[in-house]
Amino acid sequence: MKDHNLSIYNSLSRNKEVFVPEHAPMVGMYVCGPTVYGDGHLGHARPAITFDIVFRYLTHLGYKVRYVRNITDVGHLEHDADDGEDKIAKKARLDQLEPMEVVQYYLNRYHHAMDALNVLPPSIEPHASGHIIEQIEYIKKIMDAGYAYESNGSVYFDVPRFNADYGYGRLSGRNVDELLSATRSLDGQEEKRNPADFALWKKASPEHIMRWPSPWSDGFPGWHLECSTMSEKYLGTTFDIHGGGMDLKFPHHECEIAQSVAHNGAHAVRYWMHNNMITINGKKMGKSLGNFITLDEFFTGKHELLSQPYSPMTIRFFILQAHYRGTVDFSNEALQGAEKALNRMLDGYRRLKSLKPSETGTVDLTGIEERCYAALDDDFNTPVLIAELFDVCRIINQINDGHATATAEQLEQLRHIMDTFLVDILGIRVEAESGADLKPYEGAVNLLLDIRKEAKGRKDWATSDLIRNRLADLGFNVKDTKDGFEWSLD
Ligand code: ZN
Repeated sequence: MKDHNLSIYNSLSRNKEVFVPEHAPMVGMYVCGPTVYGDGHLGHARPAITFDIVFRYLTHLGYKVRYVRNITDVGHLEHDADDGEDKIAKKARLDQLEPMEVVQYYLNRYHHAMDALNVLPPSIEPHASGHIIEQIEYIKKIMDAGYAYESNGSVYFDVPRFNADYGYGRLSGRNVDELLSATRSLDGQEEKRNPADFALWKKASPEHIMRWPSPWSDGFPGWHLECSTMSEKYLGTTFDIHGGGMDLKFPHHECEIAQSVAHNGAHAVRYWMHNNMITINGKKMGKSLGNFITLDEFFTGKHELLSQPYSPMTIRFFILQAHYRGTVDFSNEALQGAEKALNRMLDGYRRLKSLKPSETGTVDLTGIEERCYAALDDDFNTPVLIAELFDVCRIINQINDGHATATAEQLEQLRHIMDTFLVDILGIRVEAESGADLKPYEGAVNLLLDIRKEAKGRKDWATSDLIRNRLADLGFNVKDTKDGFEWSLD
């Protein structure tokens, strides 16, 4: 294992802390996964990519990471805001499907989008619906400890009681007195002793079709509970990292903390990590605002706000150009900038493969690899890492243009840096995005350019120009270099 002083910003302490796994080389990481209803959108892409980097980097450092990301297919099945019908039940009825068919349909599409973004699958992807028994047992233990009560077939967490004993609201920094004295009317509030109390178990109304038997009623578990239960089942009563989007801090993660402390008497999570949110043209994303763009729409360009399609790697690179704790604002201009930057990076990567070594090297590569590691060790600072890799590209271009030379050993060092940081850790696919389709053309284009090179050698300029111009018409950019030629596709 590499000896590293990795520091992570802990949302709970609001400090950067040196990362010390509890059971190195094992690291336990839990990330709140998607609600499986509707197509994947940017709000799904950011946490997936953020924690993919954490997963990839810790694995690279030699840790054995058990990465658990849940599938929420129960707790969110609240009534549709429009007509009061359960969303999955409504779709199941309209399309004559089993509710689990609806869940599977969207889950398959989510996985497809994650593959396209080159997000590695987690080690375990547990479904809330597959852990009902564990959740019921978890509730019983909280009730036994005195921090939950039954009311009309539902079970609620007793927030004032918990607050008096342990303190509530530390992660989100909420004003607890205000929370506890709130009087706004909420659905089902008459069942609660305090408006801040939250459901551990909800009695199902007659039309609610996803329901399970329990000691209290036929019903379903509260959303917060699945994460406390499944993280403990797969990672133990304390584990290293818990991640998710900033919007989950309150109430979701605050409730998770309360549940696990009430259940075990201690905090389950050692480092809380939260990625910041994504806006579109400066505005929050939302269906009612007309700026809700799915990942598929980004990939195909089929949305009125998009002036062109954006490849999955452009989306990934764009997200990584910002630090995960900073906001990201999507716009066509910003995405086009990311696309250009990514192409510059990929050109550098490909050029590096064909560089020829010299007897002596004039490039200075000292400290580059250390600076790349330092960027990642500093709370996964991907924008700083990307800037370092652009510096590597600048060196590659100098060698390619004949302004600098590199020995075989130095070229090997450059390749090692790019393969490690660009490919393995940032997870950028370096093949052309339609790589499989482009392969046969590559040979044909190279053949034409070999013929052109030969024609030039014979000073047959007419043939040479004809080939270059016709290729240009088809979108191929041909550039002459000191060793021959290189080309790219627009
Ligand atoms: Zn969660």
